[in-house]
Amino acid sequence: MTGARTFEMDAFVEDARAVSVLQAFERCGFSLRSLRSSGPEHVGPCPSCGGKDRFSLNSQKSVFNCRGAEGGDAIGLVKHLTGLDFLDACELLNGRDRPSRDGGDDAERAARREAAEHRLAEQRERAAREEVEREAQQNQYRAREWDRCRALWREAAAFDCNSASAKAYLAARRLDVSRLDGAYLRTHPRLGFFAEDGKGAKVAIHHGPAQLGLFCRLVPDAGSASGFRWMSIGLHATWIDLDAAPKFRPTLVSPVDGEPLPSKKMRGSKAGGVIPVLGLLSSATRMVVGEGIETVLGFARFDGFRADTFYCAAGDLGNLAGKARSGRDEPGSRIRHPTIKRRATNGVMKPHFVPGLEPDMGSDAVPVPAWIDELVLLGDGDSEPVMTRAALKRGCARHAREGRTVRALFAPVGGDWADVAAALEPEMEAA
Ligand SMILES: [Zn+2]
Repeated sequence: MTGARTFEMDAFVEDARAVSVLQAFERCGFSLRSLRSSGPEHVGPCPSCGGKDRFSLNSQKSVFNCRGAEGGDAIGLVKHLTGLDFLDACELLNGRDRPSRDGGDDAERAARREAAEHRLAEQRERAAREEVEREAQQNQYRAREWDRCRALWREAAAFDCNSASAKAYLAARRLDVSRLDGAYLRTHPRLGFFAEDGKGAKVAIHHGPAQLGLFCRLVPDAGSASGFRWMSIGLHATWIDLDAAPKFRPTLVSPVDGEPLPSKKMRGSKAGGVIPVLGLLSSATRMVVGEGIETVLGFARFDGFRADTFYCAAGDLGNLAGKARSGRDEPGSRIRHPTIKRRATNGVMKPHFVPGLEPDMGSDAVPVPAWIDELVLLGDGDSEPVMTRAALKRGCARHAREGRTVRALFAPVGGDWADVAAALEPEMEAA
């Protein structure tokens, strides 16, 4: 009988081992929504040990890892989360008792399982409580950050206030500012630029004039003619130094390593919003979206400042195009870069992937209302071309509608719309 029982027991353990770590996590009563997913990885606090991002599940390899503690398969995961021993963990995963041994002590086993269930219930409660606290903290942080953005916007002077204004900056960049009426952009006379020092403290490394724009979202509003209104969600700042040709922005370096820092910053939130630059969205039938304000304004001149067009900036490529469909094996989720390779830790060169052409419609990106029948997405010629092209095509796919023309336009290689001379013809590319 021993052989048969061993065989049964092996099969029982194998069944438990075959459960995916994602299923095991949920079988312990935890929700995958408590973790952030990026590709096959789900990362977040460990229900057992806490922390912020010490815990991860990998759906592809079906393994878990808890930093500093342990890792392993579904059985190891259940042991880690519940404190159950090996066979009890298998029972939980299989949802049935282990193959019976002669005269096994059922009462003792039942007591153990009850104790484990009790522990799990406590952990679930704690995880839920911590989730609520985290959310409250994040909301508080967001509210404070937005208050700060609003204060900076209020403090700011007019677009065309003095010789170091946003208008003077854009004009210095050789952009045509004659059409800008100052409705969308302002000048902050002395905006602090903060960076982290070696000890993680925020220190002001620069104070100077800055151009401010607002990230705005479209929200439904039954009271307005279009059915929508703008809601500001974040602030975009560009520091100005009119003595620093050709970009006319100050040189800022990290106090930690002396590396250059970008002289543009976004505060608050940008996801799903745009920075209006020129025109009125409610009366426009055409929309032009680029990454930066300068790019859009440079293009607007090529475009002849069309009266039917709303020109706006997305802030960055991610917000311009939205995310690609997730799951690395999903078609369209990613594409292999034709030339760039990366070196793995073992020295082997591995392919480099960039987000693919298939949009994740659930991700945030610039809003394009239904009444827009022509959409133009702008690519900078000085960005990495493979990634930029993929992103713009993904953005085109995302916003394609029947009766709407959608296309991506790329600035000549090496330049952006703001830098190229008016004589150069843009490369046109249909989506
Ligand atoms: Zn842990």
